[in-house]
Amino acid sequence: MALTDDTLKGCRSKLAQIIVNGDWKMPTEVQQVLDQANVARLPPCYPSELDELIQTPDIRGKFSVASAFEQIREKETQVGWDTLVWNASIHPSTSATAWKSFNNCAATDTSIRKKGVHLASKCCCGCKEEEDLDHILWHCQFAKNLWSWNAELYGLEDNFQNALEARAKTMGRSPLIRKLWDACIVNSMVILWKHRNMVVYDNKAPDNATCKRMTPMGKTTYHGSYRLGGTNAKRSCKPFG
Ligand SMILES: [Zn+2]
Repeated sequence: MALTDDTLKGCRSKLAQIIVNGDWKMPTEVQQVLDQANVARLPPCYPSELDELIQTPDIRGKFSVASAFEQIREKETQVGWDTLVWNASIHPSTSATAWKSFNNCAATDTSIRKKGVHLASKCCCGCKEEEDLDHILWHCQFAKNLWSWNAELYGLEDNFQNALEARAKTMGRSPLIRKLWDACIVNSMVILWKHRNMVVYDNKAPDNATCKRMTPMGKTTYHGSYRLGGTNAKRSCKPFG
């Protein structure tokens, strides 16, 4: 009947209270729910008969708890970056921060202004653009320098404007390289965000060298390779030194 939790609020009647002397006897709150669901008349009640389980098979002809859950669960809009963020080659804490970025959960000047706070905005990395997350992660010259450096290490073109375009650059490459590049993308996004916070809140000067130390050759490849399968994976990363 597709009843919501709000509709069912306060309905605590047990079956024994609803069936009295072999017939339906609806409490007021249950009758209101039935009226709301446009159920004019219930089928006859046979309390002496055994209950029958009614199940509808799934597309493969079987019924399972998983198929039932799949039917009733609330489905969100599909995104193209879920397997990029949530995979075994990336540390969970890094994934969590990247997930916030993909959901635009970042206190940039633009998001603060959208909440009604008037402030002048300028990119912390020295360019003249206003600060928003896309600019910090992808379009600022500071970020572009880091992405170019990353792409060169992997022998890729650096003409990408977002994470999905960057990810597509390793299409056709080996699974290991694809996983390492995925980890590199996510880690670099997080590092660029942390670098922005360091400049804004700790009054540090923008420093590309610091970001490079934290990205592929350092944290991503080393850490990612161990998460991908230990020293063999690390040893096979010859293109990265
Ligand atoms: Zn900038």
